[in-house]
Amino acid sequence: MLDFDFHCHSNISDGTLTPTELVQRAAGRGVKAMALTDHDDVDGLDEARAVANELGIAFVNGVEVSVTWRSHTLHIVGLGIDPSYPPLVAGLSSVRSGRGMRAQKMSDELAKAGVGGVLAGAYKFASNPNMIGRTHFARYLVESGHCKDVKSVFNRYLAKGKPGYVPHQWANLADAIAWITGAGGIAVIAHPGRYMVGKHSMGKKTMQELLAEFVTLGGRGVEVVTGSHTQEQYAEFARYAEQFQLLASCGSDFHGPQESYRDLGRLPDLPMSCKPIWEVLSLH
Ligand code: AMP
Ligand code: MN
Ligand code: MN
Ligand code: MN
Repeated sequence: MLDFDFHCHSNISDGTLTPTELVQRAAGRGVKAMALTDHDDVDGLDEARAVANELGIAFVNGVEVSVTWRSHTLHIVGLGIDPSYPPLVAGLSSVRSGRGMRAQKMSDELAKAGVGGVLAGAYKFASNPNMIGRTHFARYLVESGHCKDVKSVFNRYLAKGKPGYVPHQWANLADAIAWITGAGGIAVIAHPGRYMVGKHSMGKKTMQELLAEFVTLGGRGVEVVTGSHTQEQYAEFARYAEQFQLLASCGSDFHGPQESYRDLGRLPDLPMSCKPIWEVLSLH
């Protein structure tokens, strides 16, 4: 079992815990090294690091950048970044800037589908209004009794192809990798298995093209063990990691006590063939 966790969220993006509460929970679960990887924002890092230092956990500065690649939305995790690197700061700010308009459109689309007036409700769940996203809408639709849980909201309203889904242009892959690597970080493809399931998913050939392009652009890691992979996918992405000489990362993708399939830490070991990403991260 791994007591490392290099992917999780605080309420700076769409997690429910503050950075302090998140790190306290990780410590309570025996996590020895962690990264906070909020979507498109690094504002939680200083607080999280201070608490991690107090509690004796190694802390890695992270971020999860939203990217549009071909017709797909991808998430690229950056680990070991300097959060003050100006191109990263400016890049993340540009990625966040579209979220307000998108939220307005989501609310309009949901109204057409018979679910009216949800914008203010969604914002109520966004501790950081600049980071308003689908999860905040989902939480409100659960609270207001439209669906029984967040998962059902996505399946019914918010997943690609559903009535509340609004297509959006995020960062491009080359830029996201350049921001991360320029900031001294390692770019990691988050939860790749997720891009291969569902109606609009990529096939094996496209996944291979993505991995090849990612490596050419300076990407160095891939999540092999994540809360969103099955056992089979651990093995599948361990093979891809070997084929493309990528470092293997692990993270829960924890968003909150009520919502996550996986809680912080206590992740299964990486397959034997993997080169663990923590061998190149400075853990302090
Ligand atoms: P956004 O960046 O606003 O498009 O929101 C993306 C976030 O929505 C992801 O990081 C997840 O936290 C959440 N999400 C996406 N798809 C699902 C799903 N099928 N079920 C539950 N949460 C999801
Ligand atoms: Mn999320
Ligand atoms: Mn993600
Ligand atoms: Mn995530």
